[in-house]
Amino acid sequence: MSVKISQRMKLIDSSGIRKVFDLASKMKDPINLSIGQPDFDTPEDIKQSAIRAISEGKNKYTLTQGLKELNQKLLEKYRSQYPKNPPESIFISSGVSGGLLLACMALIDPGDEVLISDPYFVMYKHLVNLMGGKPVFYDLYPDFKIKREALEKKITDRTKLIIINSPNNPTGIVHTREEIRIVAELAEENDIFIISDEIYDSYVYNNDYTSILDFTNNALVMKGFSKNYSITGWRMGAVMGPDEVISQMITLQQYTFVCAPAPFQYAVLENLDSDLTKYRDEYQKKRDTIYEGLKEKFDIVKPEGAFYIFPKAPDGKASEFVEKAIAKNLLIIPGNVFSEKDTHFRIAYTADIKTLQRGAEILNSLV
Ligand code: PLP
Repeated sequence: MSVKISQRMKLIDSSGIRKVFDLASKMKDPINLSIGQPDFDTPEDIKQSAIRAISEGKNKYTLTQGLKELNQKLLEKYRSQYPKNPPESIFISSGVSGGLLLACMALIDPGDEVLISDPYFVMYKHLVNLMGGKPVFYDLYPDFKIKREALEKKITDRTKLIIINSPNNPTGIVHTREEIRIVAELAEENDIFIISDEIYDSYVYNNDYTSILDFTNNALVMKGFSKNYSITGWRMGAVMGPDEVISQMITLQQYTFVCAPAPFQYAVLENLDSDLTKYRDEYQKKRDTIYEGLKEKFDIVKPEGAFYIFPKAPDGKASEFVEKAIAKNLLIIPGNVFSEKDTHFRIAYTADIKTLQRGAEILNSLV
């Protein structure tokens, strides 16, 4: 007897990224610039907090929406940071990924159109497809800036949602105040709801960050812990937004994730005030190393955030170029994993400076 897999599974496709992992598994000790997580170890304080929470027996379910004190502290922080558009409600999710899944389940009906800037974080496209929605891409090439006309052209009377992500994976772009304003204005004019994925907001190098909360609180704002505390395996995130949406997502969480991992909620709560600027400063140096190392031979937009850089491949043929890099034992990811185009490639500069220099040397030798 063969198991009949749901039709839904035909709506998603993991072939792009799987191909890269298959290639990687055949490489011996590669120079790996493909990993989208920090290369520093989790800070000792937060590790100790988690160990203590486990030892003290804080291992049981928490409230579905998360620890009351953690919710309150985060809400207070963002309400005082954005007094004009204070977020109404919050819950703790199983990573931003968990928040994204519940957001899509709560908001997208079959046939709804969802605007996604291209290049994009892979999950958005597949989650929208999984809900029977239609991803509609607005192209940000070549400068990766949001432009009013280009975005406006893609809006139809079926447009339900727009997803933005700044600092961005895979480009490292930080959208300017003006670009975020455009999104907020168009959303309001056309009655479109916004999801703003702000997971990389602690990695901004030009000290000029605009959140969607600068313009509106009629949006879901996803804040992560994975990347800033280097705890990607802990599955911790926070979602803020209008009460009517957050309450639906909490209902869904009750029947899916139940709650975010309890001891890690306690650990994050104890370390909310940690100073993480040294990590940002380290990544700024890494950004400089890779950008300076590549800018002569590659067409690149200088990234101002996250830990990715997205250069154009020679002749705009990314998959071909990535294969050549892999033949030289350097692992990077072709743009078609993150885009409807295959012209650029992603480097995650989550490695030490020497490795980055070596990676840049190899890439330059291939041009
Ligand atoms: N959003 C973006 C843009 C990401 O790059 C990632 C992880 O790579 C996530 C969300 C998922 O993060 P989390 O570990 O919080 O689920």
